Amino acid sequence: MEFDRSGVNALMEITSRPDLVFVRGQGAWLEDHNGKRYLDFIQGWAVNCLGHSPSLIVEALNRQATQLINPSPAFYNQPSIDLAKRLTGASCFDRVFFANSGAEANEGAIKLARKWGRLNRNGAYKIITFDHGFHGRTLATMSASGKPGWDTIYAPQVNGFSKADLNDLDSVRKLIDDETVAVMLEPVQGEGGVIPASSEFMQALRKLTAERGLLLIVDEVQTGMGRTGKLFAYEQSGIKPDIMTLAKGIGGGIPLAALCAREEVCCFEHGDQGGTYNGNPLMTAVGVAVFDAITAPGFLAAVNARAEQLSAGLLALSAKWGMKGERGAGLLRALKMDRADGALIVTTARDWSPEGMLLNSPRPDLLRFMPALNVTATEIDLMLARLDEVIAKIRA
Ligand SMILES: *Cc1c(COP(=O)(O)O)cnc(C)c1O
Repeated sequence: MEFDRSGVNALMEITSRPDLVFVRGQGAWLEDHNGKRYLDFIQGWAVNCLGHSPSLIVEALNRQATQLINPSPAFYNQPSIDLAKRLTGASCFDRVFFANSGAEANEGAIKLARKWGRLNRNGAYKIITFDHGFHGRTLATMSASGKPGWDTIYAPQVNGFSKADLNDLDSVRKLIDDETVAVMLEPVQGEGGVIPASSEFMQALRKLTAERGLLLIVDEVQTGMGRTGKLFAYEQSGIKPDIMTLAKGIGGGIPLAALCAREEVCCFEHGDQGGTYNGNPLMTAVGVAVFDAITAPGFLAAVNARAEQLSAGLLALSAKWGMKGERGAGLLRALKMDRADGALIVTTARDWSPEGMLLNSPRPDLLRFMPALNVTATEIDLMLARLDEVIAKIRA
C-alpha cells in the first residue's frame, strides 16, 4: 500500500525522513501506513512519557476542549493554576511561566537571568553553558548550545554564552567575570550523547555559583518529569537550583513547557514576558493529568525498576559484543559501542520484518534509549532481544 506523496514537497526540507507515514500509536507501539508495527524506544524524542495516545491524555483533551480552549493568557484559567500549584509544590521553585516548547522555556530562562542581572548585578548578562550542551533551536538557545558551529550559523547571533567542560569545575571558574550572571546546564546531556553531570559536580557548581552570586539554571527539558527516576533530575544531587525549565515529558506528547523559578529571581515586570498560547487550559489540563500519573504512588519506583532492567540488559549486550558498556540515568540511557555502526543499527532495526523497532543514534558509536516511562518489563526484554538479532545480522 502507498501513502499519498503528492504533498511531500510542500513540506520544507529540514531533515531526511524514511519513506513511510505513521498512522497510529498505542503505548509502546507505532503503526505505519502498511499496518507494520514498530516497538518505539524514541517516543517522540523522550516526549511521550506515558506512551502513545494514553487514555488519560485523550480524556483530558476531550474534557477540556468541550469546556474552554483558550481565553487568552491575559486571564486566569483553572488548569494553569492547578498545574503551577503542583509543580511548585513538588519542587524548590515558587513560580511558573508556561510556554510551548523547550527552546521557548529556555529563552525565558535566559531573559529572566539577564533581567535579574540588570537589576541585581550591575548589568551582568553572560551565561556560562557547556560543550555538547543542547538548549534548543531559537537564535539565543542555539548560541547557548555547545554544538560546534551552532553559535554562528545564523550570524550575527546572540552573544554572551561561553562554554565550559561538563564535570570540570575549574573550566567554569575560569570563565566567570564581572559580566557573568548565571551558569546553565542539563543534569544529563541528552542530545550530546547521554552524558550525566556527576552529583559532586552539581553540588560543587551550586556552591561556586552561590559564592559568586550567580544563578544556577537547570535545563530539565529532557531529564525532568520522572525521566531519571526522580521527578526532577536536580534532586539526584540534593541541590536547589534557582531556575529550571521543563518541556518534553511535561505534556506527554502535546506542546507544553514551563519556566520555573525561585521567588527571589522572579523579576519580570508586566509586559516583559508573554505569548498567545502560553498556559492555555487545553495544554495545561493535559499537564495536570500527566503530572498526577507520574506522581501516583509506585510510578517512579517502577521507572527505577525498569531502568535497572534496561541497564543490566544493555551491559549484557555490551559484554556479548565486545562493546564499551552503558551509561545514563533512569530511562534515559545509552549503549556505548565499539564501532561507528549506530546509523546502520537504527535503519536495520526500523526495517526489520515483520515488526520494526525505533532507536536513536545521537553519535555514530552510541545508541540512545528513551522509552515511555510506563514501558513494561516484557517490552524492554523484547527490545533487547531484537537489538541482539539486529547486531548479529549486521556484524555477521
Ligand atoms: C529537546 C530539548 C530542548 C528543546 O526543546 P524543544 O521543545 O524542541 O524546543 C532543550 N533542551 C533540552 C535539554 C532538550 O532535550
